[in-house]
Amino acid sequence: MSVHPVGDGRYEVDAASGERYHVDLEAGRCSCPDHRFRGARCKHVRRVAIEITEGRVPPPGEVVRDCRDCGTAVFVEEGVSGPTYCPDHELTAGDRARDRETGAEVVVVGVSALRADHVRITATDCTVAEHPTNDRYEPDVPVVAAIYPHARVAPNGTVPASLRTYLFPRTRLRRIGPP
Ligand SMILES: [Zn+2]
Ligand SMILES: [Zn+2]
Repeated sequence: MSVHPVGDGRYEVDAASGERYHVDLEAGRCSCPDHRFRGARCKHVRRVAIEITEGRVPPPGEVVRDCRDCGTAVFVEEGVSGPTYCPDHELTAGDRARDRETGAEVVVVGVSALRADHVRITATDCTVAEHPTNDRYEPDVPVVAAIYPHARVAPNGTVPASLRTYLFPRTRLRRIGPP
């Protein structure tokens, strides 16, 4: 039997017989005769529950998406927009990442929920999405702040004394590592 999530807590189950049944997991309903005529908790409902428990199929309320960087299947909440990343490619503050545009390595200092077309860069008076170097990246992805880790320690302190942060559309950065 193979199980395909179709959203809304519903699943299609292809039985060995070649029949396809529709399971509503939360209601405990199935379109098979066993359930419809005998009210049994049929093997299709049980199979869906097993597939969820074993992590092969998303639970009700979640859907399968591909990691944007490596294609690994990831379960995410239904209706969540923006690119999806697997645990290996998710960015959080402190991660090292590679700028796809320049090849430079950066250190992530902040990940926002704000979109690239909603955040302005004061120095150039345009949004992150409108910045010419971001032509190739989608305007509706989250903005990530990062620094270039190029400070050095001198007898009179750090040079430069503070590092400037830069803003990137999320898809422009690819996580390096984990170490
Ligand atoms: Zn059934
Ligand atoms: Zn990945």
